[in-house]
Amino acid sequence: MTSNSAPRLSSRLQAVQPSPTIAMTRLAAELRGQGKEIIGLSQGEPDFDTPEHIQVAGQAAIAAGKTRYTDVDGTPELKQAVAAKFLRENSLSYGLDQVSVGTGGKQVLYNALLATLDEGDEVIVPAPYWVSYPDMVRLAGGVPVTVPCPEEDNFLLTAKALRAAITRRTKWLILNSPSNPTGAGYSAAHLKSLAEVLLEFPRILVMTDDMYEHIRYDGWEFATIAAVEPQLMNRTLTCNGVSKAYSMTGWRIGFAGGPADIIKAMATLQSQSTSNPSSVSQAAAVAALNGPMDFLSARNETFRQRRDLCLEAFNSIEGLSCIKPVGAFYLFPSCAGMIGRKRPDGKIIATDTDFVMWLLEEAGVAAVPGSAFGLAPYFRISFATATEKLEAACTRIRSACDRLS
Ligand code: PLP
Repeated sequence: MTSNSAPRLSSRLQAVQPSPTIAMTRLAAELRGQGKEIIGLSQGEPDFDTPEHIQVAGQAAIAAGKTRYTDVDGTPELKQAVAAKFLRENSLSYGLDQVSVGTGGKQVLYNALLATLDEGDEVIVPAPYWVSYPDMVRLAGGVPVTVPCPEEDNFLLTAKALRAAITRRTKWLILNSPSNPTGAGYSAAHLKSLAEVLLEFPRILVMTDDMYEHIRYDGWEFATIAAVEPQLMNRTLTCNGVSKAYSMTGWRIGFAGGPADIIKAMATLQSQSTSNPSSVSQAAAVAALNGPMDFLSARNETFRQRRDLCLEAFNSIEGLSCIKPVGAFYLFPSCAGMIGRKRPDGKIIATDTDFVMWLLEEAGVAAVPGSAFGLAPYFRISFATATEKLEAACTRIRSACDRLS
C-alpha cells in the first residue's frame, strides 16, 4: 500500500481476528490436501444427522411454497414454538414480542450487542470464552473485559470475580453454560450467587448463551439465570438455538427471549441487514421445537462414552490433565506439564499453540490452543466425532507426547 492510499479495511474490522477454530480447520484441510491424514477435532458440531422428522418438515415446507420472505425476526409459528419451549423447559414466560429468531445463535447474539452497545461500553466475558464473544463486542464498538476463571474454580465465574470486574461502563455480562470450550456448567445455586451481585447493579444486562442446554451428562441439572432469579427477567436475554441439540448447524436458526425493547431493536437491525432467517429452516425449527426429543438420550449417551474415552486417555498421559465436563461436547485439557519440553528437532514447546502445532504435525490431530479461548496453557478438542477416530486420535496424541523430552 502506498503512503497516501486510504486503508481498505475499517479500523473496526482490523481489530478482529478470524475465528481461530475455523483457521485451525482450514490448516487441517490444507494438510489433508497435501496427502496427510488428519483427524479434525477442532470444529464444534454434532456428527449426527438432523432427525428425520425435522428433515421431512423442511422438505414439506418447500413443497408447500414456504419459500418467501417471512416476518423479519421469525414467523408467528416459530415464535410461538420458541415461547412454548422457554415455558416448558425453562419456566420462562415470554410473549411473542419478547422473542427474536435469527440466522443461527451467532446472529442473535451479535444483533443484541450491536443493538445495545455504544462506543466504549464494557462487556464482561468470563474466560475461557467462546471465541466469538470478544470479537463480536469489538465489532459492535464495545470493550470486552475478560475475567480469567481458573481451573480451580472449574473455569466458572465467581461472584467475587464478577464484582471486581464491574465498572461504571459495564453494559453486559455474558454467561455460557454448559460452556464451549470447557464443558463446565453453572448450577442454580451458583447462578443465584451471581444474581445477588447483579441485583446491586440494576443497569447491567445479562446475556446467557444456553446453546448446549440439551447436551449434558451424568444427570447434571441445567439452570438459566432469569429462571433462577426472576428479578433479572427484565434485563436478561436468554439465547439458545436448534444447532447443537437438534444437529441442525447448517440450517442456521437461533433464537432469544428477552425484554421487548431490546427484541424490537434487534428486529430493526435485522430488517436492515439479513432480513428473515431462511423460511424453510424456520419451518423445520418449528418441527424440532414442537416435536419429540427422545432421540437425544441415545445421542447424549454416545457423546458421554466418547467423553469418557478421551478423558481417560488424556488423564493417563503424563503432563496432561482434564476436568470432567457436565455438558457440551468439548474437553479442555491442561497442557501445563508439556510446556518447556523439547521436540526431537530441538524446538521447545513454549506455549499451548506450540503444543497444538506439535499435535498437528506429529500426531496429525487438529485441536485448538486454549489461548484462542482466553486461557493458557490448555487446548480444546471436540469429541463430536466418530468413536474410532477419537480412539485413533488419543493413541496418536499419546505417542506424540511420548516423543517430547
Ligand atoms: N454459542 C456457542 C457457545 C457456540 O459454541 C456456538 C457454536 O459453536 C454458537 C453460540 C453459535 O451457534 P449457531 O451455529 O446457531 O450460530
